[in-house]
Amino acid sequence: MKVEKSSYTCTACGKNFSISILNAGFPGGKDRESINCPWCGTENGTIITSGIITSCREEKGGDIR
Ligand SMILES: [Zn+2]
Repeated sequence: MKVEKSSYTCTACGKNFSISILNAGFPGGKDRESINCPWCGTENGTIITSGIITSCREEKGGDIR
């Protein structure tokens, strides 16, 4: 399994959040999943993945290790 992490800034509320995609390694079976802001729930686009998406609030931007 591998985890991909991406940072986003919400287009609606401007807050930062991150998306972790846990790729469980299923072959094929990719779906289009929504990326929802964990602060306000606005959809910030979609991603096509076979993994499991978890969204995390980031309290501050630009300081993520
Ligand atoms: Zn938001």
